[in-house]
Amino acid sequence: MRIVLTGTPAARGMALGRARLVQPNILAVDMRMLEDKEIGPEVERLHQALDTARTELHELRGKLHGALAREVGDFIDAHSLLLDDEELLRGLDELVTVGHYTASAALKMQRDRLAAVFDAMNDPYLKSRGEDIDQVIGRVMSALNQQSSREERKLAARVGEIVVSDTIAPADMAAMAGQGMLGVIASAGSIYSHSAILARSFNLPMLVGTRDALATVNDDDLVLIDAEHGEVIVHPTAQDLARYRQWQRQAAAEGRRLAALATAPTLTKDGAHVRLFANAELAGDVTLARSRGADGVGLYRSEFLFLRQRGLPSEDEQFAAYRDVVLGMGGLPVTIRTLDLGADKADAAGLAIRGEDNPALGVRGIRLSLRYPDIFSVQLRAILRAACYGPVRILVPMITHLGEMTDVRRLIKKAREDLARAGQELPERLDVGAMIEVPAAAIGVTSILEKADFLAIGTNDLAQYVLAADRNNDALEGIYDPLQPAFLRLIAHVIASARRAKKPVSLCGEIAGDTQFTALLLAMGLEEFSMHPGQLLQVRDRLTQLDCGALRRAAPRLFRAHSRDEVEARLLEVVALQDGCAET
Ligand code: PEP
Ligand code: MG
Repeated sequence: MRIVLTGTPAARGMALGRARLVQPNILAVDMRMLEDKEIGPEVERLHQALDTARTELHELRGKLHGALAREVGDFIDAHSLLLDDEELLRGLDELVTVGHYTASAALKMQRDRLAAVFDAMNDPYLKSRGEDIDQVIGRVMSALNQQSSREERKLAARVGEIVVSDTIAPADMAAMAGQGMLGVIASAGSIYSHSAILARSFNLPMLVGTRDALATVNDDDLVLIDAEHGEVIVHPTAQDLARYRQWQRQAAAEGRRLAALATAPTLTKDGAHVRLFANAELAGDVTLARSRGADGVGLYRSEFLFLRQRGLPSEDEQFAAYRDVVLGMGGLPVTIRTLDLGADKADAAGLAIRGEDNPALGVRGIRLSLRYPDIFSVQLRAILRAACYGPVRILVPMITHLGEMTDVRRLIKKAREDLARAGQELPERLDVGAMIEVPAAAIGVTSILEKADFLAIGTNDLAQYVLAADRNNDALEGIYDPLQPAFLRLIAHVIASARRAKKPVSLCGEIAGDTQFTALLLAMGLEEFSMHPGQLLQVRDRLTQLDCGALRRAAPRLFRAHSRDEVEARLLEVVALQDGCAET
């Protein structure tokens, strides 16, 4: 019988295959207290399980080659690092030796503690890093539970299979992608998880939050994932299969058409030039950005360097990472955003300002960097050194007022002097820009422009602050809505002010890569978009269909709208009209 389940698309596409259920790591936790004589053997058991988990990851790493190794290596290394994390290991040992807990109870307690830390994080991407902890501890836990039969739990998709799981670890995702897995249905998980990012890079359709999947689907059931519409069809009918075949034909034709755009210039229908930049966090993003013809990196989120390891990365480590991005872009500009950690995300680096009631309004971004000028100066020196290898710009997050830009410029000047004294080579010029994501900076942008060489509008945060709606709170979906006219007017004001001041302005929030917003942003006068490199071709394609002149002329009418629905309706009208005009 045909059954339809719904989920959230984490990677688009469709796939038809046999289901392969990967049961979640059921944490069989033994909560009894150990007697003294049991403690030694239990610690031994725990360490053996940790070793097994390490070996598994090591073996997986060894099996990856070429692009796959580059793409996934970072994720596996991050998991391996977690397994060697001194604090985590010490905590586990102490729970067993001092607390008399069993190894499984100790693992569960550490997992719950860390899950709470990640849960409290503000940024959805970082929040989803909690999944990594879950997956690493799950790996150790199942090694502990099945010390005798490791083979049994090896995940090995056979060609033509769709994996149905609770969540899926990036390392397993990579291994299974290499073995012919066609898609993933996860009953939990987030679209910001590493696995979701990988699924997008591998072009594998993936749904998350498909709640009843594990209870409904059986091994070997025929399933159709429709990650275009957020559906899983179990036992699809002939009609479903015909729809799938039609999608396949269209997707193949679309893929060929888009691939041809990788080397095409970015032009609107009426010939206006637009610059498309990439947002990057990982080495793989840089490769993708190049291969899709990005004009540069518009946002390099440097905090990921600080979150991938314990403790602070040294000046040399940071320099090497930044230089690699600069070299990777082969002479195209790279915009390095300085640390954007908030109090709740700073633990790994030990920078936390503890006990903030409202961390989103707390010491984050540049506020945090200015509290630690020594640490900030290390980053500035590393960026300055990397800037000798190609064009680099510095972007400062969470600017609220002009004084912060003045402070940053003073610290950059000092970093230059320190490097010069040490005999280091220095770049001649290095532009310093402000991220506009705090309403005060957006409203007062003219004064910020006095000290900023360029602007980048961070609409992810600007929307949450303008609309007073936490960007991670699902319950506020209808309010956290970038189509709200008041929000659009503010963005338009920032773009117009930068244009008047003849300074470059880009937009690097998620809406830059969402083709539903391309016409609107063009109407506002935006000429530089920065997005996940996976979106570059779609946006370039969309731009070729839009008449920049007609949209700009219609802008005042768009922004006078009284509701988000009115904005949408007027936009549709304008786009339809421009199509009509072009045909006559
Ligand atoms: C933004 O706020 O729009 C932005 C690009 O920065 P992040 O998502 O990293 O906060
Ligand atoms: Mg931001």
